[in-house]
Amino acid sequence: MLFDRIQKGWREARFYRLYLQSMPDIKKWQDDALCDLIHHAERNIPMWNTILKERVGSAAAIRNTDDLRLLPIIGKKDFMGKVSEEYTDNSGAIRTTLHTTSGSTGIPFEFYTGDKYFHPYYSNFAHFRFLAQQGRGLQSLSETRSALLQGTLIPKRNQLFLTISDLLQDTNDSIAKIADFKPEVLISSPSLLLKLAQAVAKKPLGALHIPYVNSTSEMLSPTTRTFIESNLRSEVYDRYSTEEVGTISMECHRHNGQHLHPESVIVEIVDMNGDPTPEGNEGRVIVTDLLNYNMPFIRYDTGDRGIMTTTRCECGLYSPRIWIMGRYAGSLDFNGHPIHRIEFEKKLRYFMASILQFQIVKSGVYELTVRIIPTLRFDSASAGKIKEALQPLVGKDIMITIDLISAIKTMPSGKSQTIVDESQSAPKRDTI
Ligand SMILES: [Zn+2]
Repeated sequence: MLFDRIQKGWREARFYRLYLQSMPDIKKWQDDALCDLIHHAERNIPMWNTILKERVGSAAAIRNTDDLRLLPIIGKKDFMGKVSEEYTDNSGAIRTTLHTTSGSTGIPFEFYTGDKYFHPYYSNFAHFRFLAQQGRGLQSLSETRSALLQGTLIPKRNQLFLTISDLLQDTNDSIAKIADFKPEVLISSPSLLLKLAQAVAKKPLGALHIPYVNSTSEMLSPTTRTFIESNLRSEVYDRYSTEEVGTISMECHRHNGQHLHPESVIVEIVDMNGDPTPEGNEGRVIVTDLLNYNMPFIRYDTGDRGIMTTTRCECGLYSPRIWIMGRYAGSLDFNGHPIHRIEFEKKLRYFMASILQFQIVKSGVYELTVRIIPTLRFDSASAGKIKEALQPLVGKDIMITIDLISAIKTMPSGKSQTIVDESQSAPKRDTI
């Protein structure tokens, strides 16, 4: 297994230093890692054995990362309805536990991750890559003091763990605990970071000082970033992860896109037909997890949309950078036409300087409500302009209401729902 082998000496060093290498070196490593994964999948996973036989004859046809596109793009639906023996490793006992996604796409999904989290350094290396880039060694990374404000993860050594209910029920107590613990890094979703930052904003200046914030699990808007940075007196590093694959990319100190983690994943950006998009064009984010031998995710559709560049970053790293533009999953239906979440997000992108957070709600059969936590730049004209931008999308017979609020409800996972259908539970309008 790949991870058993990299735990030995120079292989381990090469693994943990790959992100610092040139693109030819990265590609060579990924070619080898991909071939190992594909051969493993052919031998031990019936679903992949069938796919390889039908599409390319055998695993031998996939010689490098360029050949990946010969394989189909798969999604949750390709696993669902099958017995797990078809798509999991049959060669031995699986050590990881069964996970379930929170179902933010509307479809709960059970899966196994790879064994990577059993490696003592891997999680910290994935979460604190920006510190590694500053020259911190693996041992030092594992001693980083962090506070985790999240759903249900298990805390590690040197980690303060606060649940969402801790934060929501007694925010001041949470602030005091964080201040007392003095973490170097705070890890959470933008929704919860925003709630914390809003609470801190009401306190005397300097209530909290956390050097770094690791924002993950949701889209981070520039306005939310600025608000969090100024109130927590932090530098925010945005990290892109999915529950199935874990961390995929993270920002460097230039904060201009997120560097892919080349030792862990291969990412492709493709159009709706599955063809690669030209560099710099938005498309579907397709990921291959090089470290999951339990339940391989090869060319797996994340449901997210993004833009990628292979241009070398000003920080000096060659590894490609990605900008996540939103999730395609989820839609609201008006007049029989589904309107995808990303279509709403695209319209609201122009107003992000005046919006801290928003939620799009189908509040009745012919009613759309946009709940907005406004910034100080939200003025008397803003609501009208937002309505104007959204009206052509939903149709002229839909009544749009802008509702200014101070908080958006978070789900048990710590995320907020960007689009919600409350039309079934809405009271019937008085028609008299
Ligand atoms: Zn960089």
